[in-house]
Amino acid sequence: MSNGNGPTGTPTRVEVKMYDVGFGDCFLLSFVYASGNPRRVLIDCGSRNAENKIPPVVDQLMTDLADTEGHVDAVVITHRHLDHLSGFGDPQAAPKLATLSPQLVLQPWTEDPNLAHDAQDENGEHVQTLEAAQQYAQTVAADAKAALPTASAADQQMVAYLASLGIKNPAAVTLLSDLGDERKYLSFNQESGLGALLPGVTVTVLGPPTLTESSDIKSESSTNSTQFWQLQRGLMSAFTAPGGTGAGADPLFPNAKTEPLDDASPCLRWAIQNLNGIQDDNVERFVQCLDTAMNNTSLILLFEVGDKVLLFPGDAQWENWHYGLQQDGVKDRLANVDLYKVGHHGSCNATPMDLWNLFQRRNAAAGAPKMTTLLPTALGPFKTVPKDSLVTALTKETDMIRSDQLGDGVLSYTAVVNI
Ligand SMILES: [Zn+2]
Repeated sequence: MSNGNGPTGTPTRVEVKMYDVGFGDCFLLSFVYASGNPRRVLIDCGSRNAENKIPPVVDQLMTDLADTEGHVDAVVITHRHLDHLSGFGDPQAAPKLATLSPQLVLQPWTEDPNLAHDAQDENGEHVQTLEAAQQYAQTVAADAKAALPTASAADQQMVAYLASLGIKNPAAVTLLSDLGDERKYLSFNQESGLGALLPGVTVTVLGPPTLTESSDIKSESSTNSTQFWQLQRGLMSAFTAPGGTGAGADPLFPNAKTEPLDDASPCLRWAIQNLNGIQDDNVERFVQCLDTAMNNTSLILLFEVGDKVLLFPGDAQWENWHYGLQQDGVKDRLANVDLYKVGHHGSCNATPMDLWNLFQRRNAAAGAPKMTTLLPTALGPFKTVPKDSLVTALTKETDMIRSDQLGDGVLSYTAVVNI
C-alpha cells in the first residue's frame, strides 16, 4: 500500500513516541513535512512482562496511525529478543500489526533465513549457533528448577526470565517473514532503503557488523560452537530427565541403572550437591552469554534530519558498538546526537563510556536545549537494569524520560524534535 499525497523536501519536525510496554521497546517515529502525510517508522513492538501491556499499546498505536489509515512506511525489528518482537506473536495484537502494510521491513543480517540453513561460512555458523543456543534457552526457561537444582528460588527465577527473553517466538517470526513488500537484513553501513521512503532524511546502519568485519559480536559466545550448545542441552536433558528424552536430546547413558538420591551414601550426596552447584553456575553463565550475543545482533540506526541527529541502537552492547565506532567519520556524527533511545533498557554496557563521552549535547549550557534521552525500562528481576549510575548521569546531563514513570494510565510519551 502506498502512502498517497507524498511529501517532499525535509521534515519540519520528527515526533518520537515511546510506548510503555513494561520491559521492552516500542517506538513510533513520525516524520512530519510541510505538506503531505507524515512518513512513519515503527521500531520494535515487544514486552516481557507478567502483565501483558502489548494489547492496549497496539490499540493505542492503531489510533495514533489514524491519519495514515493504519499504515506505516517501515517496520524495524532491532533483534529477535521477545521484549522487542512479542507483539507480532501476541494473539490479540498480531492481527492488528499484520495490517500495518509497510513497504519495508528491516532486521539485522543474523535474521536472514537463508543463513540459518545454507551458509557454511563463519556468518552462517554464528546464526546456527544462535539457533542452537535458543533451543537451549527454551529448555532452561521451561524448567529452571531442574536446570539449576541447587540455586536459590530467586536465582532460578532470574535465570528463567533471562532465558525466556531468548526463546524462539515462531508466531512472530512467521508474521514478520510475510510482512511488508520488501525485507532487508542489514549489517554495518549497508543501504537501508529508508532514505527512499523518508525524503530529506539520511539513515545510516552503524551495526551490527558481520563476523567477517568483526568477530567481537561473537566473543561473548566464542566459547561455544553449535555443537557446544547442543552438548549442553543434551547434558542438561540427561541430568533432568533420567531415562527419558527430555527436550528432544537423548540421555547420556540410556542403559545406566539409577538409584534414588536418598539411598546414596553421605559422601556421594555431597559430591552430587557440589556437581549440581557447578552445573548451576554454568547454566547461569550460558544464559547470560546468549542474552549478550542476541543483544549484539541489534540493528543500530542513525537518523540525520537537517541538523538534528537521532540514535536508535536497540539493545546493542559494547561488542556491537566497537566496530562502528572505529570506522571513519562515525564518532563525529555521533557527537551531534540530539535524541538517544537508551540502549538495552539502561544497562551500563549498552551505553559504553566510549559512546557516552562522544555526546556533545549533554550538559548543554544554560538556556540551550539539552539532549533528549528516552529510556524504555521497568524494574524487574535484573538488579542492574536500569543501572543506577547511568540513570543518575542521564538525569543530570540530559532531558530523560522513562517509560515506567509516565504516570498512572499513561501509555505513551512523545518527544518532538523540531528541524
Ligand atoms: Zn530488550
